[in-house]
Amino acid sequence: MLDLTGKNALVTGIANNKSIAWGIAQQLHAAGANIGVTYLPDDKGRFEKKVGELVAPLNPSLFLPCNVQDDAQVDQVFETIQKDWGKLDILIHCLAFANREDLTGDFSDTSRDGFNTALDISAYSLTRLARGAKTVMTEGGAIVTLTYLGGVKVIPNYNVMGVAKSALEMSVRYLAADLGPSNIRVNAISAGPIRTLASSAVGGILDMIHHVEATAPLRRTVTQKEVGNAAAFLCSDLSSGITGQVLYVDSGYEIMGM
Ligand code: NAD
Repeated sequence: MLDLTGKNALVTGIANNKSIAWGIAQQLHAAGANIGVTYLPDDKGRFEKKVGELVAPLNPSLFLPCNVQDDAQVDQVFETIQKDWGKLDILIHCLAFANREDLTGDFSDTSRDGFNTALDISAYSLTRLARGAKTVMTEGGAIVTLTYLGGVKVIPNYNVMGVAKSALEMSVRYLAADLGPSNIRVNAISAGPIRTLASSAVGGILDMIHHVEATAPLRRTVTQKEVGNAAAFLCSDLSSGITGQVLYVDSGYEIMGM
């Protein structure tokens, strides 16, 4: 039985009701977890308002700004968890960013700046958040991040984000080895293509979705809810023996050769 009652779960990466993180937060909440949410702050407070209204039905007991490029904000999140929750059980890392111009055209045109930005936000942030999480995951825990096939195989236009996902997936393995002795498990979900704010920046995302619908064993792509259910599994005791893995939630697309 998948039961997350009594578990404190921090979910990053909710931007709107299409976000994969929103699908995950809903499924963790449905399984009984106490939810905390971080949002990306902006000057006009738009995300704070929008995300706050969206997540209100889940009664989040924490709602905090966290730009993963800002160490002070990251530290503040874990200090607040220590103070208000006492311990953290689940961390969902569900965020990524690359400049739009780096998600189309030739990979060889990626600028140094664009490369560093994509790797910093999309890959290094997992390590930075995991470092904070281990200070409050005093009773063990589960960390889940989101990746994509473009980190393993060449997908047109995914470009620098593919390199970032590759770094992210290897970070999952190193973090799993680091944190395993503290009974903290670290896994990734490799989701099939879904239309979201972030994916709409990738050139030809609709073509990618149509290709999956035509060729994946299940002849469709996946939903945020399906990814959320897999995340709930990876955060629950049902997956207590699993760490350092990449679980494909992609209608089976990854197994196809032709
Ligand atoms: P999304 O746009 O809904 O979510 C991306 C999130 O990243 C947003 O909430 C945004 O605020 C956040 N973010 C960006 N820069 C940040 C920063 N500096 N600090 C903190 N947060 C920041 O899109 P999504 O598709 O739900 O993306 C979530 C994750 O899923 C990403 O890692 C993405 O690569 C991955 N993923 C998406 C797909 C897909 O097809 N949509 C497939 C596989 C994996």
